[in-house]
Amino acid sequence: MKSPILLEPVFQEKLWGGTRMRELFGYDIPSEHTGECWAISAHPNGDCKVRNPEYAGHTLSSLWREHRELFGHLEGEVFPLLIKIIDAKENLSIQVHPDDAYARTYENGALGKTECWYVLDCPENAAIIIGHNAESPEQLREMVEHREWTELLREVPIKKGSFFQIDPGCLHAIKAGTVILETQQSSDVTYRFYDYGRLENGQPRPLHIQQSLAVTKAPFLPWKEPPESWQKFDAEVTVLVRRPCYTVCRVNVDGHWENDWNRPFVNISVTAGEGLLDGISVCQGAHLLLPSGYGTMTLDGHLELICSYL
Ligand code: ZN
Repeated sequence: MKSPILLEPVFQEKLWGGTRMRELFGYDIPSEHTGECWAISAHPNGDCKVRNPEYAGHTLSSLWREHRELFGHLEGEVFPLLIKIIDAKENLSIQVHPDDAYARTYENGALGKTECWYVLDCPENAAIIIGHNAESPEQLREMVEHREWTELLREVPIKKGSFFQIDPGCLHAIKAGTVILETQQSSDVTYRFYDYGRLENGQPRPLHIQQSLAVTKAPFLPWKEPPESWQKFDAEVTVLVRRPCYTVCRVNVDGHWENDWNRPFVNISVTAGEGLLDGISVCQGAHLLLPSGYGTMTLDGHLELICSYL
């Protein structure tokens, strides 16, 4: 039987980052301003080291290049997904991502970015920004020119366990105090649209207004796809979203669960609880990747997982 691939997370320090990842997951974070944990990543800006002794010296990107059999011989130059945890101690700037076609043309052949958020923790009465209230590209441009940010930006209330799909062209931002798990295409192309007029070392951070206006879709159409759930063994499986670039599901296990994923690979993040995954002890904050041909996975314990696959 194959083993799960265990990865070493890459932490990214950010001015807006905090310490919640240490408090919630016991991570050994590098500073009091840790904004992101790239937990399953083969992106050059944060390529996870592989911890399995049989693949000593490998990173996820070199495993993808040299051991494609672990990924069902999928095609493609880059491992396609990236799993992150984000701790926003401050409001993050409002941003938008291009789609594949725009990124390919204007960003050196990079992937576009489709992402989704699962809220791991947030204060009471918290909200995030998803989408905008302009009815056309012209109105969007006008509202931006007149700095009508409050009227333009669409705020949505959130609580622990809320889930949001964010397609390319959708304005979005996390607000202070929110910790999320993000599943995304492996891309780092972000256009900063609005930064609340803040200064960093006395200077405003660069904005990308022209690119943002070029890629932002107007009017904004909220994503409404009802989740699909079923019971199997002692678990409730919920498909949160299916998109061409990924499927993301949540699994709540209360006892025993087994599953043959039968996928080229599966990313698994333990977002709550603890248990045994084929004899390996896993707890809140663990991330692993099941390779192609893994077979039946068995899980015992009380856990919540967020899983993703192509
Ligand atoms: Zn984003």
